[in-house]
Amino acid sequence: MKYDKKSVEDIDVHGKKVLVRCDFNVPQDETGKITNDKRIVASIPTIRYLLDHHAKVILCSHLGRPKGKFDLKYSLKPVAESLSKILGFTVKLAPDAIGEGAKNLAESLREGEAILLENVRFYPEEEANDPEFAKKLASLADIYVNDAFGTSHRAHASTAGVAAFLPAVCGYLIQKEITVMGSALENPKRPLVAILGGAKVSDKIGVINNLLEKCDTIIIGGGMGYTFLKALGKEIGKSLLEADKLDYARDMVKKASEKGVKFLLPKDSLAADSFAADSPFIATEDENIPADKMGLDIGPKTIEAYRNAIKGAGTVIWNGPMGVFEFDAFSMGTSAIAEAIVNEKGVISIIGGGDSVSAVKKLGYSDRMTHISTGGGASLEFLEGIELPGIACLLDK
Ligand code: ADP
Ligand code: MG
Repeated sequence: MKYDKKSVEDIDVHGKKVLVRCDFNVPQDETGKITNDKRIVASIPTIRYLLDHHAKVILCSHLGRPKGKFDLKYSLKPVAESLSKILGFTVKLAPDAIGEGAKNLAESLREGEAILLENVRFYPEEEANDPEFAKKLASLADIYVNDAFGTSHRAHASTAGVAAFLPAVCGYLIQKEITVMGSALENPKRPLVAILGGAKVSDKIGVINNLLEKCDTIIIGGGMGYTFLKALGKEIGKSLLEADKLDYARDMVKKASEKGVKFLLPKDSLAADSFAADSPFIATEDENIPADKMGLDIGPKTIEAYRNAIKGAGTVIWNGPMGVFEFDAFSMGTSAIAEAIVNEKGVISIIGGGDSVSAVKKLGYSDRMTHISTGGGASLEFLEGIELPGIACLLDK
């Protein structure tokens, strides 16, 4: 999917009321205290740009799953406080998203000021993408900015519906996602190497199908590798297997070879007695795994082969850890691949997928990647080539 969308810089915001859909869905402890404010911090460049250009900024977001009714537990109050601290002035929280309270606050805004609407998911109409609700939300503003990449695969009122009523553009976060991932898929610096892993083939069929059309090399690891190995007649012991995906796996291997796409499967594994952090394990001789063991990570021969395959890559797109990285003993494959990527000079490296991003962060490589996608489900759908409603609805350049 190629997106060439207008951004905040392509529209005159001076004196305008600008509704900005952010991703303020932050983690909190039992007392409501924000435990990680990265998402808030990440939203600041777009907000600052708007403030600096004399806009009247109306921020909105969802937080958690309040199931369509007001619930203090999911109030954006802590976010308003955090924003106030970061921005250095009070960001008032409206009592609701579309009611009189919100309207009055929006009306009272002066240039260079910002308010935050209360959780849009306090209304069932938000997730239902109800046009009346979207219209009311839109009526607060003159311009709509979407900067919540993580919900852009959802057609909700605040992520897509409002764009029917307002000129709509993207903020800097979405702009970076679509520029970096979009060009990697549509006009990549080659060779383009995809590294695909994670638990299940069935979760990744769309990604594999789409990337097979675009990549020069596909590297397979993680739990899903075993369905491929089984499909090719290898013994996989107690490793993860999706028996109903064996035909699919065989087809993909065949398709790759017809297309001249290098399709690399693990040559060896770390095979454990059980699915546990402290399980005894062995490194297997080859692809085969003893009947009483399960593969929880790629082995040293595979690491070596995959390192070589990454060498010289122009672009690497990575989705899905190589092993059960949550257990230290089985995080080596994922670590080694991350290391190989960051050591590759000039490579454009893109990490997408919730667990892949967690893995790269946990193992300490996130700062050295070109792009860490901020949306789990959204980045997967992007890699699948599916149109994202929260982006498709924005004005084309
Ligand atoms: P993402 O969220 O990045 O798309 P997935 O959700 O597909 O990634 O996969 C991540 C999960 O896959 C991790 O929790 C990891 O423990 C698991 N996993 C990786 N390798 C294996 C394996 N060999 N056996 C079982 N689970 C695995
Ligand atoms: Mg996941």
